[in-house]
Amino acid sequence: MTAWLSVDSDDHQHFPSRRGHPNRSSDPMPGWRTEGYQATSHLLESTDRFIEWVRDGPNVTIFLLAEQLDCSEFTTRMNILLEMPNILIACHGWGHRCWSAWPENIEGFSEMLTAARNRISAYAGESWRPWFRAPGGYVATWMAAPLAAAGFRLDSSVNPSRWVNRKMGGDWSKVQASMQQNGIIERPWLTTWLGPACGPALNLFPFSFPARRAWRKNSVSIANDPENEETIALYWHLLDHERKSGRWEPPLTRLM
Ligand SMILES: [Zn+2]
Repeated sequence: MTAWLSVDSDDHQHFPSRRGHPNRSSDPMPGWRTEGYQATSHLLESTDRFIEWVRDGPNVTIFLLAEQLDCSEFTTRMNILLEMPNILIACHGWGHRCWSAWPENIEGFSEMLTAARNRISAYAGESWRPWFRAPGGYVATWMAAPLAAAGFRLDSSVNPSRWVNRKMGGDWSKVQASMQQNGIIERPWLTTWLGPACGPALNLFPFSFPARRAWRKNSVSIANDPENEETIALYWHLLDHERKSGRWEPPLTRLM
C-alpha cells in the first residue's frame, strides 16, 4: 500500500488534558473560537527540526489549527514550509475542540469549519487542500454532512484498531458509511495486529515496536494525492521532532 504522510501541528495547549474535551480537560472550552494563540518554545523548536528534516524530503501534508496563525513566530516558520514544493496544508480545526466527545452540534461545527477553512486556505493559497483531521483523534457520524457542506473532500480521522473500535461501540463502519454517503473520501490510519500505529502510539510502549516495523514496511512508496490514490495514512506530530534532543525522525524507508 502507498503511504500518505501527514503531521498535526498541535501545541501543548491543545493536549486533551488541557483543552477541548468535556471531561478530560482543565479547560473544556464549551465554545470553539479562541484568540491570541502564542506558540510554546517546544513547538517552535520542533518545527525548526521538522523544517530541516523535510527540506528536499518526502511529500508531507501539515494539518494546521487555524488559531495558530495568530502567532507570528509560528507563522514565520510556516512561511518557510509553504515555499517547499513537497508541503501541502490542510485543516485540523480552529482551536482543537474535540467535537466528537461533545453532544452533536452541527451548527457550531459548521461555523468553526467555515472559519478555519477560510483562514487556512487564504493563508496557504496553492498549497491548501480541503482535507480534515478531527482534533482528539475521533470523528462522529454527524460530522460528515457539515464537512461536505463546507467543501471538504477528504477526512483522515479513522483509527481502525481494536482498542478504538471498542470505544466507538463496535466499529467504525457507521462513520465510514456516513463519510461515503456525503461524498467524503476516508483515509484511515495505519494500524498493527497490536493496535494503533500512528500519532502517540508511534512512541508509546508497547505499540511502538510493531508500529515502527509497520511504518518501515508501508513507506516504500509515498503518495501526494490521497484523493485519487488508494493510500494508508501515516501521521505523527510536529512536537515529536523535539524527541531525542531534536534528532527524532519518523521511521520511514528512505529510498532517496
Ligand atoms: Zn490534534
